[in-house]
Amino acid sequence: MKCTVCKGPAVIDVRRHNANFCREHFLRLCRDQVAKAIKDFGMLHPSERALVAVSGGKDSLAVWDILLQLGYQVDGLYLGLGIGDYSDASGDMARAFATERGLRLIEVDLPTDHGFDIPTGAKAARRVPCSACGLSKRHLFDEAARQGGYDVVVTGHNLDDEAAVLFGNVLHWQTGYLGRQLPVLPARNGFPRKVKPLVRLAEREMAAYCVLRGIDYIVEECPMAAGNKHLGYKEALNTIEVTSPGTKHDFYFGFLARASERFAADAAEQEQLQACAICGAPTPGEVCAFCRLVERATSVPVELGRRAAR
Ligand code: SF4
Ligand SMILES: [Zn+2]
Ligand SMILES: [Zn+2]
Repeated sequence: MKCTVCKGPAVIDVRRHNANFCREHFLRLCRDQVAKAIKDFGMLHPSERALVAVSGGKDSLAVWDILLQLGYQVDGLYLGLGIGDYSDASGDMARAFATERGLRLIEVDLPTDHGFDIPTGAKAARRVPCSACGLSKRHLFDEAARQGGYDVVVTGHNLDDEAAVLFGNVLHWQTGYLGRQLPVLPARNGFPRKVKPLVRLAEREMAAYCVLRGIDYIVEECPMAAGNKHLGYKEALNTIEVTSPGTKHDFYFGFLARASERFAADAAEQEQLQACAICGAPTPGEVCAFCRLVERATSVPVELGRRAAR
């Protein structure tokens, strides 16, 4: 197998590009694809301060690494979810990456800072773990970005993630979600801009990127993910991709180019937002969903929690 660019020995084939790459040209491909996504969607400017949500997994560490190489100013945020050994190991990976490179990693620990972990919180609130987790992550990333004065929050969602979410939204015709499923969500109502610079790169490529760059990442899946619908959608798309390479890319980028705007009106039904009475985050009700989750998970009545927050 020879590199399509330099004819040297190739280390990876990328079937949807119908090409093989040596180490150097594969790493360059990854950087180029991120640079193209940033340019095409106006994600980020070098003068802006970005905060990357780091899980200790391959995608978030790779996007941090690539953005730094491209000259962006990026700090990391690690959120401890209290999911047993998985959280301990993923925190270690995130810390080691930052320490070895002299980078700034902000840490928020759900059990220490908010008094509950994801398994307990989900049970108390009668939510599935990923729902309680997603809600907490969104809230805490937004809060950390606001407090730290960051212009933009970066996440490591890759092409496989976005195609799988799109697939689920289409299967159930979630038109509001379809209208919001964009690689850039502009800043609005006190929420920072959110960007996904890895949308042009697949999961397998991010794993290869980390191996080739010597980045240690947590390989195990989160134990709470078992039975997650999202994983089933990924598997279904992977089966199609085997016989038709490039399908995921066409599905997702075809949607962005030709369909997403048609759902913009469904996403636009915004409620009036006000400041949460407890934490001050923008929310349609008096108390935001995260503070209600904290209240249930810790069984502290809202009034008491409110006093404690003062
Ligand atoms: S799999 Fe679910 S619970 Fe685990 S980190 Fe992801 S969203 Fe959170
Ligand atoms: Zn080459
Ligand atoms: Zn709140």
